[in-house]
Order: sequence, then C-alpha cells, then structure tokens
Amino acid sequence: DSVFAAIVQAPEDPILGVTVAYNKDQSPVKLNLGVGAYRTEEGKPLVLNVVRKAEQFLVNDQSRVKEYLPILGLAEFNKLSAKLILGDDSPAIQENRVATAQCLSGTGSLRVGAEFLAKHYHERTIYVPQPSWGNHLKVFTMAGLSVKTYSYYDPETRGLNFQGLLEDLGAAPAGAIVLLHACAHNPTGVDPTVEQWEQIRQLIRSKGLLPFFDSAYQGFASGSLDADAQPVRMFVADGGECFIAQSYAKNMGLYGERVGALSIVCKAADVAGRVESQLKLVIRPMYSNPPIHGASIASTILKNSDMYNEWKIELKAMADRIISMRKQLFDALTAKGTPGDWSHIIKQIGMFTFTGLNSDQVAFMTKEYHIYMTSDGRISMAGLSSSTVPHLADAIHAAVT
Ligand code: PMP
Repeated sequence: DSVFAAIVQAPEDPILGVTVAYNKDQSPVKLNLGVGAYRTEEGKPLVLNVVRKAEQFLVNDQSRVKEYLPILGLAEFNKLSAKLILGDDSPAIQENRVATAQCLSGTGSLRVGAEFLAKHYHERTIYVPQPSWGNHLKVFTMAGLSVKTYSYYDPETRGLNFQGLLEDLGAAPAGAIVLLHACAHNPTGVDPTVEQWEQIRQLIRSKGLLPFFDSAYQGFASGSLDADAQPVRMFVADGGECFIAQSYAKNMGLYGERVGALSIVCKAADVAGRVESQLKLVIRPMYSNPPIHGASIASTILKNSDMYNEWKIELKAMADRIISMRKQLFDALTAKGTPGDWSHIIKQIGMFTFTGLNSDQVAFMTKEYHIYMTSDGRISMAGLSSSTVPHLADAIHAAVT
C-alpha cells in the first residue's frame, strides 16, 4: 500500500478550475469568461509586439549568459519597476528609501511581502476587502498572517460601500496591515474615486495602519500607467511607509514568465537598506533567486524609450478593447430589454465585471449556454469579443427571466 493511500482528493482551485471544466466541454459555442488573461477579438492569447521585439533583442545579444541572478533579482529591473509604480520624480526613490525585490509575479511578491511582515512586523493582522481575489486569503494565511476583512462591495448599488469601509478600517487595531487593490479591484471592478482614496489615506495614516498595495493591473484599468498608479503615489507622497506588490502578467502579457516586484517604501534610507538585507534572508530559503528571462524582457522594454512608447500604445489598445466590450454587452442587454439595471457593466473598471448573477444563474448559463465563469458571477471582459457578446447577452437574459 502507498504511504499516501489516505490522501483525499483536493478540490480544484475555484478560479483555475473554471478552465479545467471549460476544457472538458465539447460544445462549439463554449465560452471561457473565468480566465483572468487577455484575449484578442479572435479569442486568442496575445503576445505584445514589443515583447517579441525585446525577446529578439535578448536572443541576438551574444554577451548574455544564464548565470544565477542575485537573491533580489535583476537590479536594473527593480529600479525600473519602482519608477514605474512610484513615478519618475518620486522623492522616495531619489532619497533611496525604497527596497525592491524581483519576485515571482504578483503572487510571489505578495507572498514575500507577507513572509517578511510575519517575521519582522509587530502586528500580524491583515485586512483584505470583502470580497477580494480568492488567493489573498491563502497567501497571507500560509505566510503566517491572520486575515480579517473590511467592507468593500455593496450588492445593492453594485458599487463601493464607502461608509462600511471607513467604519471597518476605523475600527482596526493600530498598526494593522491593510491590503488595497491599487486599481481595477478584482473581482468587483469597483474602485474608490480619487476623493475617496484621499479619505482612505487620511484614515490609514491617522490610525497608523500599514498599507499593502496589490498592483496587478497598472495601465490595464484606464489605459494610462500614471492614472492607474495614482492611489499608490498619493500614499507615497505623504512620506509614509507602504508595501507594493507589482505584476507584469497583465500589462505586459507576461503571465507565464512570472515577472513581478515587491517594493517596500520606508521613511529613511538606512531603514530601507536593513529591510533589503532581511528580504534576502526571507527569499533565499524559498527559491534562492528569481528567473532571469522575463525580468530581462521587462527591463529591456522599460529602459528603451522607443520600446516603452510602443508598450504604452499596445497596453492602451488592450484596455480600450476591454472598455469597448463593456459598452457592447451593456448595449446588447439594453436592446433586448433584459430586466434590471446593467449600468454597473460600464461603470466598473478593469478586467472583470461583477455581474450580480448568483451561483444558480451561473450554473444555468454553464449548463444551457456553455458559458464558464466563477460562481460569484464574475466575468472576464477580456475573454469576450464582438462575436460572442450576443451569445452572452442571450444567456444573461435567459438566466434572469
Ligand atoms: N492580485 C490580483 C488582484 C490579481 O487579480 C492577480 C492575478 N489574477 C494577482 C494578484 C497575481 O497574479 P500573478 O501572480 O499572475 O501576477
């Protein structure tokens, strides 16, 4: 008998499991709106032209070797990543107050940040929005933090429960960590306004809470890298401390290359130096050092002004296509006279729409229309195209009538 004979079958990941189910479906009209990856109008994965160019450039450079990177990764990539999120003229960068580690995409950056906090920070509680990306709970719990939630989404308005958010963060113990989605909140697509961010910032600073930004969609929400970074920059402009986990999965389409960075913005350069030294001790026993290829692609693009500009254009095109899918779906439901208010489809932002459909309605749409999505009614707008909008609108119409 196997020594593992007693092991029970684990459930599929609630998000990645949607694709497993989709792959088994034989229907020609099947549609996968569960996956959080960009698709073209033709429903195909997209490799950006500028990424192909950077890869070609790297292949042609005969001086490149495959040596190990340092524990903190590619130094150039780290500098450029901090600049990307904090801005060219960020005083925190100029004053050497930012410790950055190249990590395994957004997830790895969150995990390294959480491991660091569990080891070196006095308060172990992290508040995440309700709801949040499902993996947050697991990443932070596994790192040894204790996860609590703060109010975020209002199902009535399908918008922000701002009062609830302020009350819950206001009641958090001093020093508690607060996870904030920098933009394009996943799964709801609901972001605070700039004025609301300012109130959140004041509350967090006045209570001495520690902000931890998850920035998985910079540039993907509005089409502008700077606009999407604004909430983070507001928190850095006040001179206070924060954590930032960045991912290049969506905005450079580097999903499987696992390119990301953790930045810890400190109040003083000497603190940042010591924090950086401790980050190495956190990372070394986990994976020694990060992979070289994806970060080299990203830094090739970030440091070359022609490639950088080309990237911005391609990034905006992805964001614009998603925004246009929102409009087309909203128009299709309006034209059909589907009961209910669907304006949240065009008000929400980023990759996902939180439709408001319940798990029974989702199950109905999967069974009758071969449309796949997470059971909370979240659909990936990036998985839609002009040719599939009518099928989705038919399914939604049938599900609610
Ligand atoms: N945070 C959020 C909110 C996300 O939506 C995602 C991707 N689904 C991530 C982090 C991490 O993604 P990755 O590890 O692929 O960069």
